[in-house]
Amino acid sequence: MAATDAIRSADLAFCEKDYTKAISLYTEAITDERNRLLPDLYRKRAGCYFELKKYLETYEDVSIFLKRKPSSISGYILGGKVLLELRRYEDAAKLFRRGLDIEPDNEKIKAGLAQLQNEIMSQFEAREKKMTRTTNVLKLCSQDPYPGDDQLVDLEDNIIQECELKKLPEMKARMPNLNQSIQEFEHAKQLKLAGNLVSALEHLQMALEYDPANFALWAEKAEWLSETGELKKAFTNCQVIPREFRSKEVWMLGGKILNGLDLPINAEAWFRQATRASKSDDNEAALMFQKVRAKRLCKPYLADYPVEASFSAFGRSIVATADIQADDTAFKDKPIITAPILDSMDAPSCSHCATNLMKPEDFFEEDVLKNEILLLNCIEKYWPKRETLTCSHCEIETYCSERCREESWDTYHKVICSGRNKNMSSLYEVAKQHRKLTATDERVWDGVWNALFSPLLLAKIWATIICKR
Ligand SMILES: [Zn+2]
Ligand SMILES: [Zn+2]
Repeated sequence: MAATDAIRSADLAFCEKDYTKAISLYTEAITDERNRLLPDLYRKRAGCYFELKKYLETYEDVSIFLKRKPSSISGYILGGKVLLELRRYEDAAKLFRRGLDIEPDNEKIKAGLAQLQNEIMSQFEAREKKMTRTTNVLKLCSQDPYPGDDQLVDLEDNIIQECELKKLPEMKARMPNLNQSIQEFEHAKQLKLAGNLVSALEHLQMALEYDPANFALWAEKAEWLSETGELKKAFTNCQVIPREFRSKEVWMLGGKILNGLDLPINAEAWFRQATRASKSDDNEAALMFQKVRAKRLCKPYLADYPVEASFSAFGRSIVATADIQADDTAFKDKPIITAPILDSMDAPSCSHCATNLMKPEDFFEEDVLKNEILLLNCIEKYWPKRETLTCSHCEIETYCSERCREESWDTYHKVICSGRNKNMSSLYEVAKQHRKLTATDERVWDGVWNALFSPLLLAKIWATIICKR
């Protein structure tokens, strides 16, 4: 078939949506020497591949087309669309943008960009959904009191006494009158809507005096008072409602007020009750509980930094409390101890600061090191040169520097150095034996002895405590 005939037949097959036939005819035309420089054939064949959802082939043809005809908008449109299908969003955006440079108002490109945005958003949502579904971190976090909380409760209780937070709010004695109470409450609501919170509260108070056993009104008053910032008064109004009549909302409100009054242990107690009063799919109270807990536990460590700890559906987090400029320190975190777990015991590292002390010969095979000149040059140039020190008493623990060796000795190693403490040798032996065992028998990974654990780690913690005393 002559080349022009092949092209004509291919175009016809395309119009008739016989893409397979069109592809073979375009291929025939492309392979014909005389048509080599007809970039449009690649674009047309790409269009056929696209219809058949053969996206990689589409992309190949589009790339050839764009190289030869970089000013053609149709190439950028098809290229963008196929990259979208291949989920290469950034590349798709690039092609669409280059198309827009050529023709800023092209509707097809605008539609492509809109689709791109939707795709990215839906991917993001799907990922977020999956994360919340698979890791409900709240379920993993206990609401049990923390060690030492009992003493903190005493401190907070003193403050509660001093601030008279458990005192009953003052009430004028009135003859109970339900109708009058309803009227006053309606009036109060209108005043509040109009923004006159002070008068609104006065009428709400009257509504209460006409119907003092109406706990919904007490809750309402507590809420309004907390809106005005009168947290102490607000709390006394929550407190009036007997425990058995407190709804989840009342427990939540009390918790928020107590948190606002900087009484986190009591706030936690209220959020704990709110969690119990919540429906099973309602995480609001549990989340508030963990937020308060995260913040108060980390507060002492973060006091000097422009951040505070919080908690989201994904777990504990850090949020900025002020603008943080480039090169500012957001916060510093330093482990109390570092120690290898059984799994990483053989990895050469500083026993004190965990700096990697691996040497080229630990990493590369011997003959590679002998024969690969380029590699040797790179090692010479880039591999950190460190001398490795060992403890002069036990010669087991290794250090990256004299400073680490000294600090380690002073803060824990003098208690657990096997050169001085003979029991330590048995502990090293236990760890070594266990490692041997796990290499041959999978079952020992069950139970307490698993990869994240090492008896040496516990010894280090205890020794640190002993040295601190
Ligand atoms: Zn070190
Ligand atoms: Zn030692």
